[in-house]
Amino acid sequence: MQQKLFIGGEFVDAADGGTFETIDPHDGTVLANVAEARAADVDRAVAAAASAFPAWSRMAAADRGRLLLRLADAIEDDVDALALLETRDTGHPVRDTRGLDVPRTAATFRYFGGMADKFQGSVVPVEQGFLDYVVPEPLGVVGQIVPWNFPVMFTSWKMGPALAAGNCVVMKPSEISPLSALRVAELAAEVGFPPGVINMVPGFGATAGARIVDHPAIAKISFTGSTAVGQSIARSAADSLKQVHLELGGKGANIVFDDADMAAAVNGTAFGIFHNQGQACIAASRLIVHEAVKDEFLERLITLTRSIRLGDPKDPATEMGPLTSSQHRDRVMSHLALTEEEGGTVLTGGHAPQDRALADGFYVEPTIVETVPDSRAAQEEVFGPFMVVHAFKTEDEALRIANDVAYGLGGGLWTRDLSRAHRVARDLRAGMVWVNSYKRVNPGSPFGGVGVSGYGREMGFEAMREYTSPKATWINIDAQLPAYYDRNPPRE
Ligand code: NAD
Repeated sequence: MQQKLFIGGEFVDAADGGTFETIDPHDGTVLANVAEARAADVDRAVAAAASAFPAWSRMAAADRGRLLLRLADAIEDDVDALALLETRDTGHPVRDTRGLDVPRTAATFRYFGGMADKFQGSVVPVEQGFLDYVVPEPLGVVGQIVPWNFPVMFTSWKMGPALAAGNCVVMKPSEISPLSALRVAELAAEVGFPPGVINMVPGFGATAGARIVDHPAIAKISFTGSTAVGQSIARSAADSLKQVHLELGGKGANIVFDDADMAAAVNGTAFGIFHNQGQACIAASRLIVHEAVKDEFLERLITLTRSIRLGDPKDPATEMGPLTSSQHRDRVMSHLALTEEEGGTVLTGGHAPQDRALADGFYVEPTIVETVPDSRAAQEEVFGPFMVVHAFKTEDEALRIANDVAYGLGGGLWTRDLSRAHRVARDLRAGMVWVNSYKRVNPGSPFGGVGVSGYGREMGFEAMREYTSPKATWINIDAQLPAYYDRNPPRE
């Protein structure tokens, strides 16, 4: 298990020798002591990235792509070990890390490996006598700061497009779950990425993270995390005019109409909220259900919810693991207390599980509460296995409830009415909408939000644009320049 910083192609200790513990959320034991990057280490990483940049950005795009494809293969070959590492560090059940997260990581690196020599510039038909060509240029060194919930996938979402476009990266994984990102860096070194192109600096937000944000040689910050930290990063970046891309929180609306396929909607709703213990920015954390089907729908959903198998995330039969840290578990539980204070009703869950085998872990039962749309429980991101329910009578009312939050990341709806599906999808205020499904992602489909969910996009061509700057070059082929000043005519 790799536990050191990855700087300039080598695994190294922190300059001051500091380390921090990463905890196994299943039983609260120390999983590893990881080198803790601080400002001096970030500075070393940025210097390494800056010196690697000229050669990396000039390398043939197909060769950059080939390295990304090799990394995708190496991740696939390592799937069992990498999935287990991710599971131990995050608590995400191995059936998902093995079946979804690691394969998706490989697929995303592969997508951007293929993209490297296909993302091309253009020629603009300007006035006669000129050739104007536009080249997407890499930005230089980019700083990438990610949260703890899907750390292995985020390496590919962030590094895939940045590297394909010719940038060098300094990435800070979360202090809660840094191990899989270090393993991806190790695999990248093994497949031949030049030293300095990828640098991994695990550490804390206030030290390593803040230095990445402030560093004058970093051209862009791509940040995934909470809205509060995203806002503080945008404020800090204002002074240097550094570019910022923000993927922030969410409070996903999931609307179930009375003509929906109930079995599919129940299944999709449970997955939408409880997958990864609800620790997903696009989680379906608000169920907005038509009053005519509410009782039947909730009965089926609660039956399914109570049958979800909580347990050791390393067990392939486990469907729901622990929350990722004790602090986060406490935060989720405090939202539960708040909901009850606000007059909400707990329909199922709401406690730590009774199973004594789970007593040392950070487990919370899958929880559904009924509350009013303007309560804090219904407005604030909880980021746990916690779903609020509201009933509606009309399509307009459903949309009003859905759109009446500050967030605008993902949202979904279930209906058999084709026109309504398109109409509601159009009117939902969100960056991503799923019809008769929930939480679909693909490396080609833009991922991001509106409102306080941030700006900019991961994935697809949009991500390549995030990591490039279009340079227009004008060539005078045979244009006669106008004589601006009679006394100083252009030379023959
Ligand atoms: P967080 O904002 O606390 O931390 C995210 C990262 O930022 C961590 O690496 C942390 O160390 C770092 N950080 C903290 N303070 C910093 C500072 N002042 N300067 C620089 N870096 C700093 O978020 P979290 O608790 O790790 O993750 C949960 C949040 O992430 C939720 O709000 C969730 O919605 C959001 N999220 C968003 C997306 C998305 O794509 N929109 C995806 C996953 C998670």
